[in-house]
Amino acid sequence: MSQKENKNRGRTFGFDTRMLHAGHIPDATTGARAVPIYQTTSYVFDSADYAAQLFDLKQYGNIYTRINNPTTAVFEERMASLEEGAGGVATASGMAAQLTTMMTLLEPGDEVVASQHLYGGTMTQFVHTFRKLGVTARFVDPNDFDAWEAAITPQTKALYGETIGNPQGSVLDIARLAALGSAHYLPVIIDNTFATPYLCRPLTHGANIVVHSATKFIGGHGNSIGGVIVESGEFDYAHYGSIADPSPSYHNLRFYDTFGHHAFLMKARVETVRDTGACLSPFNAFLMIQGLETLSMRMDRHVENAQDVASYLEQHPKVDWVAYPGLESSPYHALAAKYLPKGAGSVFSFGLRGEGGAVRAKGKTFIESLNLFSHLANVGDARSLVIHPASTTHQQLSDAELVASGIGPGMIRLSVGLETKEDLLWDLDQALHVI
Ligand SMILES: *Cc1c(COP(=O)(O)O)cnc(C)c1O
Repeated sequence: MSQKENKNRGRTFGFDTRMLHAGHIPDATTGARAVPIYQTTSYVFDSADYAAQLFDLKQYGNIYTRINNPTTAVFEERMASLEEGAGGVATASGMAAQLTTMMTLLEPGDEVVASQHLYGGTMTQFVHTFRKLGVTARFVDPNDFDAWEAAITPQTKALYGETIGNPQGSVLDIARLAALGSAHYLPVIIDNTFATPYLCRPLTHGANIVVHSATKFIGGHGNSIGGVIVESGEFDYAHYGSIADPSPSYHNLRFYDTFGHHAFLMKARVETVRDTGACLSPFNAFLMIQGLETLSMRMDRHVENAQDVASYLEQHPKVDWVAYPGLESSPYHALAAKYLPKGAGSVFSFGLRGEGGAVRAKGKTFIESLNLFSHLANVGDARSLVIHPASTTHQQLSDAELVASGIGPGMIRLSVGLETKEDLLWDLDQALHVI
């Protein structure tokens, strides 16, 4: 049930109602109110003819859980409803959501222009895994629209960015990127992980496809890996090679001619996820659905805590800078007001004062002195998290290399959780006092 269909006697339900109800009606056989976990690999066919129709995509139905599953379908429809899209495809992880999207759109020799403010894993995927697929990614400063335009070549097939980039705390001008995409007949893909559909809905600003690491705020409790793709159904793929041309891996099916505005999602599901196997498990889909039920309440609290933590850090004498777009000092404050009116999320970075080896050591001491913030490599948990890239993910880099990669030796990344705010401030205060 997409948002457009999710009406009751003409009423379009609000975001919170859709978090709890979209895509699901109580089970007709058992009356179960919660979404059941359909922990099955496969589904009995009513008849041999019906089976033949399913495999020929003449009839839509359940075949095998690598392709579709009733629990996962609720998660997909609920996400599509919340993002105001036409439909969704769930994937094994956020990385799988991106790769599925790109493998559905791109052919060897194609290019993508992407923001250089991307999640580290995405950067690696776009540089190294894309190379194995014959695809080239060109990276540009996301604020420099001349650079976006200059990087587009006849081989370019998509534009890609993140709603909120880290560690810069940059907010993407999605509507401007969407206008550029329209002018060049290129779908615009936005990773909306840090914002979630509660804080920003990129499709309503003209983007064509949204991808998520549902591992983060959607699941929300740091217990399961998952991803999802949502599409607007509004990009006209009539002349877009991979979606319009006959597809050799589906007996020359023309996805656009056959499925119209559902062509991209159908191809992503029945071809790309079928062949890569990067599907979401029904159990993880259940946990993601559970997470969605409280998304707005959690995000309001994440934002409230993050805003106060950022303000506290900004005035602290041992802190050099804070890159939170919710702060007035942020160069992205105006874009945040436009795209993130309910708040700028709760993942951001700040820098400890000092230079070189001395501040690298301070960073390590700071992390070790925290009590409530967990030191680990994740974001979007209900609990507060912290990482010091210079002594963990980027420890092999020299001080000069760290600075060159935009990650100073004193940079700390926080994912502010849902704890009592005063306790978080107390924890940061005592750890800053130690260094
Ligand atoms: C975590 C993350 C990913 C990758 O998602 P996984 O679920 O870990 O595969 C992609 N983009 C962003 C912004 C992320 O935070």
